[in-house]
Amino acid sequence: MLELLELVNKADTVAIAGHLCPDGDSVGSCLGVYNYLTREFKGQKQIDVYQESVPAEFSFLENAQIIRAEAAPDKIYDLFIALDCSSVDRLGFAEAMFHKAKTTVNIDHHISNTNFAQYNHVEGEASSACEVVYGLMDKDKIDQKIAECLYLGIVHDTGVFKHSNTSKKTMEVAGCLLETGISSSQIIDDSFYRKTYLQNQILGRCLLESILLLNGRIIFSFVPQKIMQLYGAVPSDLDGIIDQLRVTEGVEVAILVREEETQRNKVSMRSNGKVDVSRICEMFGGGGHKMAAGCTINGSIHDVVNNLSVQIEHQLNAYTEQ
Ligand code: AMP
Ligand code: MN
Ligand code: MN
Repeated sequence: MLELLELVNKADTVAIAGHLCPDGDSVGSCLGVYNYLTREFKGQKQIDVYQESVPAEFSFLENAQIIRAEAAPDKIYDLFIALDCSSVDRLGFAEAMFHKAKTTVNIDHHISNTNFAQYNHVEGEASSACEVVYGLMDKDKIDQKIAECLYLGIVHDTGVFKHSNTSKKTMEVAGCLLETGISSSQIIDDSFYRKTYLQNQILGRCLLESILLLNGRIIFSFVPQKIMQLYGAVPSDLDGIIDQLRVTEGVEVAILVREEETQRNKVSMRSNGKVDVSRICEMFGGGGHKMAAGCTINGSIHDVVNNLSVQIEHQLNAYTEQ
């Protein structure tokens, strides 16, 4: 078991970072660990948190305002803690600081994790990095503010306790977090369900323009760069759209592709159980979980759809033959 407090005790300077395009689990786990460590070490350590721009709906979490969106390139940290990152490149702008750090820790829940640090604590069955982090904390030191961070991460990675990664343990952890007095319904409504008008418009457009492939077993939708620009949207404005695509009747796999640059596409995939989408995304240099994964594919959107649907069909055929 990773002894987080012992490692931090030996360090004077600590960096904490999640993954690029941070989601609720990334932000929640980073701030949960930050708040836990600052309570424990009360100003004796310099602790910095690095995350790309944090979506506004997470800014109510305690100390969200201290998050740094730019690297300190010359800084050599005694300890670097990576959270919710399956591989080192997922750290984005913080990767260079990771490589310079004297001691490195990787705490995660992706089955595709590459064990890229000196200390690796990966629980592939856990719902979220926040669930893993909870297990590493002294339970009597988890106050309401820390609980809010961890609860938010669990809520987001489980799609409000509905994805298949929600286990008995997930519910038990969530229950213990509730005991601290957090407002569960407010966190869920404000950070997960509330959408801006713009987000709803893009959702509507993605549903309207989606297509079915393989006799309705794949649903696919594409957001070109020019649409992102037209709406003034950022990637996190698309959060939740893939989940709506996935619950279309008859669908085994949902694919949402966002054109990042000409010929460069960010792919999100979700499965309803028969297809392991992490295996497919790994073929294209990405990863994730069996039921939720992502990757970046260079080429035209036609190539992307062709390449992915061949792999999905392959797995579906193998499944039928079983
Ligand atoms: P997303 O579709 O971006 O919400 O991601 C779904 C899951 O796959 C999350 O657990 C991500 O952390 C993971 N994931 C997404 N993109 C990548 C990637 N390029 N490499 C590894 N894991 C990824
Ligand atoms: Mn994440
Ligand atoms: Mn996660």
